[in-house]
Amino acid sequence: MAGLSPTIGRIAGIKIELHWSFLLLLLFVLVLSLYVFALFVILFVCVLLHELSHSLTSLHYKVKVNKIVLLPIGGISVMDLDTVKPKEEFNIALAGPLASFALGALFLLFIPLAPAGIIHQTVVFTAEINLLLGVFNILPGFPLDGGRVFRAYLQRKRSYLKSTQITVKLSNVVLALFVIGTIIFAIYAKGYSLLNREFLVFYDVFIVMFLYSGSQAELQSAYAKTYASNLYVKAALSKNFTVVDRNARLSSIYEKMLKSHTHIILFKDGSSVKLARIPSRLQSANDASPSVLSRPVYAYGMELPVVSYNTKLLKAVGEMQSRNAPLAVVTAGKKIVGVVFSQHADSIIALHVSKARQLHKAYQK
Ligand SMILES: [Zn+2]
Repeated sequence: MAGLSPTIGRIAGIKIELHWSFLLLLLFVLVLSLYVFALFVILFVCVLLHELSHSLTSLHYKVKVNKIVLLPIGGISVMDLDTVKPKEEFNIALAGPLASFALGALFLLFIPLAPAGIIHQTVVFTAEINLLLGVFNILPGFPLDGGRVFRAYLQRKRSYLKSTQITVKLSNVVLALFVIGTIIFAIYAKGYSLLNREFLVFYDVFIVMFLYSGSQAELQSAYAKTYASNLYVKAALSKNFTVVDRNARLSSIYEKMLKSHTHIILFKDGSSVKLARIPSRLQSANDASPSVLSRPVYAYGMELPVVSYNTKLLKAVGEMQSRNAPLAVVTAGKKIVGVVFSQHADSIIALHVSKARQLHKAYQK
């Protein structure tokens, strides 16, 4: 689904992406009412300001921010947190909710000044939504800001892994309370119209899924960082690729694929390395014209992340994830020496972590 989340712009060099679920929700409410749509645009701006607050704090600590993804329940700042110190993560995570609380307080001050009617209603909504964003995100569970703040606090006396494990347990408690709250609300919320009630329950189910998968991902990542930080790209290196000229025709690629027994066709385009993506519409009988086969391969290129032979595998996986690339090109000097497939690397890391944890447990006995 990643391809469905459009980039809507850049602020301070940071790519801003609208998550597909937010896009879907915006289209959904646009059908319902124009005013509700306007409220969602306000929500979107508030979430953006919240995320920018994280990002600008990160930049202050010289932490690289790759992109901001906007979700209907908050956002995600994709950052290079590998080298961040607990104290810095504490401040980076806290900056978002603080910004939301500050905006909420500001709009609260404006409520008495706003003329009655739609403007008053909108100011009240903006105050409420910011306070809600602040409160929700400061809940002590992953992947929320509160979870990160809590873990960073625990790290003063505990290891990264231990702190993450404790925070994941707390996340499950927060999640359970959230589910119970939603059930109670669904049963007793008589003051709401049915549509609003169902909408909120639907929203909550989405939040629960987001929180659960987020906290599990955080735990896996902590295991990987603890037990797989000694793995390098060469552990997952594959020679299953072939390089062609950027002007090569699709017809010649076909022959190359048959001869080299690989579907990974790379070509250099300027300073970047690209993957030739054979258009799937070629499979339809209508497009089987000779002119297609004579097209140059550069028309179908997808830029790939390039990593060196000695890069840590976790870092390479991070690069692939942040760029939604299925594989990365591995170089030694200027020469392409192989590729790393994201799925292959994930399996190697998972097995390595599981083996290391077994050893660790045996050692502790
Ligand atoms: Zn946040």
